[in-house]
Amino acid sequence: MITREAKIYPTKKQVKTLDILLEQSRLLYNHCLERKISEYKENKKTLSRYDLQKEVKEYGDMPATLRQVVIYRLNNAYEGFFRRGGFPRFKKYGRYRSILLRQYGTDYRIDGVYLNTWKKYGLQGIKMRGLQKLNNPSSARIVRRASGWYFQVIDEIQELKPKKVKTAVGIDLGLKYFVVDTDSKKIEAPKVFRKSEIKLSHQYRQASKKKKGSNRKKQAYQVVARTQERIANQRKNFLHKTSRYYANKYDLVAIEELNVKGMVKNKCLSKSIQDASWGTFVNMLDYKLKMLGRYLIKVPPHYTSQKCSQCGEIVKKSLSIRTHICLSCGLVLCRDENASRNIMKLGLDKANGQGIPLRSLMTRRTPWL
Ligand SMILES: [Zn+2]
Repeated sequence: MITREAKIYPTKKQVKTLDILLEQSRLLYNHCLERKISEYKENKKTLSRYDLQKEVKEYGDMPATLRQVVIYRLNNAYEGFFRRGGFPRFKKYGRYRSILLRQYGTDYRIDGVYLNTWKKYGLQGIKMRGLQKLNNPSSARIVRRASGWYFQVIDEIQELKPKKVKTAVGIDLGLKYFVVDTDSKKIEAPKVFRKSEIKLSHQYRQASKKKKGSNRKKQAYQVVARTQERIANQRKNFLHKTSRYYANKYDLVAIEELNVKGMVKNKCLSKSIQDASWGTFVNMLDYKLKMLGRYLIKVPPHYTSQKCSQCGEIVKKSLSIRTHICLSCGLVLCRDENASRNIMKLGLDKANGQGIPLRSLMTRRTPWL
């Protein structure tokens, strides 16, 4: 599964319609949330999706399928929060930003560069730009952002028949460098993020100082939203470029499994962004490799940074120590590169165990094997 995205250019009239549909979805969402909460508090009863659907059959002027997906979305949010002992929040004005189009063929179609959706609402012939060729589109959505309107669609990826493995690499994801690999390549996360983030916090402070409810405040928050979007785009471009590099160059990439539990625990913002970037990177790498008939092997991160990649001795070191120095075999190496070599070894073992044909790789000169 992969999400494809394109910018769309609805007419003024269509924008108005989309805004109305978003606002009606928001009101419906809040209405159903209120109904579920009060029914639970007063009667200890849980209203199901079907109960709600019956209740709001005539609610607002919107396509019936849109009504269904709003209820579906609310129901999912409600169950998620309820399990943890709370209720989801009501959505404030402007906070409902996407319209789900559930099924290709019934809710929407793509004809050439045009998106066609509900005819009754005049949402036809919306021009798109930058959509890649699709294989088997399923659900899609129209999203409102600070910079305009976007169309996102979930598509199946076309996997190529697996190839023989002739080239392999192990990669270590870290904080100092985004990636360090077994071919001694180090890739830093671009500094531009930090610059933009400083700018963002400045803009945010400016906006919060403005008079409440004023037009100036609204405009200032628009500026903030644009910067946020630009940062997200820069990050995405970097992740695409980096994952493309590895997918094109190697038949097999070994990488550590990300520690999801540890991530949730970490409340520090910059860290959580980093974690999210790693997750996105691994997903991008995964589908890019698959589309080329190549392999991504995930290995458990046990001792990959402590173990000596040459002799297997455990060399304890804190995070601040950047060099791996092994007293038992004399290996001196950048700590991340040492880790990447361990990841590579584990990855090749695992691949071998899965019957992935590595023979052509073994005959090549790989000094650390
Ligand atoms: Zn050693």
